[in-house]
Amino acid sequence: MRCGFVALIGRPNVGKSTLLNRLVGTKLAIVSDKPQTTRNRIAGVRNYDGGQAIFLDTPGIHRPTHRMNVRMVDAAVEGIREADIVALVSDATDARAGAGEHFILEQVRHATAPVTLVINKVDLVPRPALLPLIDRWRLRHPFASIIPVSALTGENVDRLEQVIIEHLPEGDPVYPTDYLTDQPERFFVAETVREKVLALTHAEIPFSSAVVVDRFEEADERGIMRFYCSILVERESQKPILVGRAGEMIKRIGTAARHDLEAFFDARVFLDLRVKVASDWREDDRLLNQLGMPRTKRG
Ligand code: GDP
Ligand code: MG
Repeated sequence: MRCGFVALIGRPNVGKSTLLNRLVGTKLAIVSDKPQTTRNRIAGVRNYDGGQAIFLDTPGIHRPTHRMNVRMVDAAVEGIREADIVALVSDATDARAGAGEHFILEQVRHATAPVTLVINKVDLVPRPALLPLIDRWRLRHPFASIIPVSALTGENVDRLEQVIIEHLPEGDPVYPTDYLTDQPERFFVAETVREKVLALTHAEIPFSSAVVVDRFEEADERGIMRFYCSILVERESQKPILVGRAGEMIKRIGTAARHDLEAFFDARVFLDLRVKVASDWREDDRLLNQLGMPRTKRG
């Protein structure tokens, strides 16, 4: 048997979370067109004939501007150290081939694990552009392999899986075969709400919002689950934007989130959302702990 940890690392927005969801076959990580969507390290388990792969989705590696971002980047860099295989995910539409990955490549250089380059979003580039792109990447680092994929369409993801299985160390499965993720159900409630906030808002709102589950109630005798959440914003002026005229925005967020949560839990869902101001929560370690943000070793 083979078993190991596969860290998905890379810059924000390259498609790491989309790839995690594709690899495990379940939507575990929220996705958006805005950078820095993922704030936690999310493990997703996939069992194959010959073994088990534990994929670690990580926050995008970027220049941190708040305590929150320091903790995000540390969690990602930690992922490199924990991994048996590092999958460096990049964006095929970025023709600079690694020029923007300077810091990441430096981290990866110290890795003992084999590093595979995943060139994602190949559905967006013309085929003839791929070979020169691969050649340019090759000059940056001695990758164990380079695999172009589309996490969105699934193209060539089976090839990536083959390579991963080949590189997995020998060992017994770490988790039972019905184990899917290390994140608790509450996490998926908060993240689903946050995904809708990200999809429906603009400018600084996506970056300065967080979601806390104040109360999580299992299904009652009528089969209804009840979730009570607060959406945190940083400033009083952001509150009316999230609530919307006559509560229209918060209603849209709630309806979209409830729809997804009912599918995820296969149950009827009652969702209560309110908006609260928590000034500078992105700098507040106590609040960040409460939000389940990864702890940093930098103190
Ligand atoms: P992350 O920040 O690296 O986790 O990136 P996400 O998974 O959140 O994806 C960022 C954006 O890229 C989203 O709008 C995705 O729908 C999009 N995306 C991800 N993978 C692909 C892909 O293979 N092809 C295309 N066209 N878009 C993709
Ligand atoms: Mg992500």
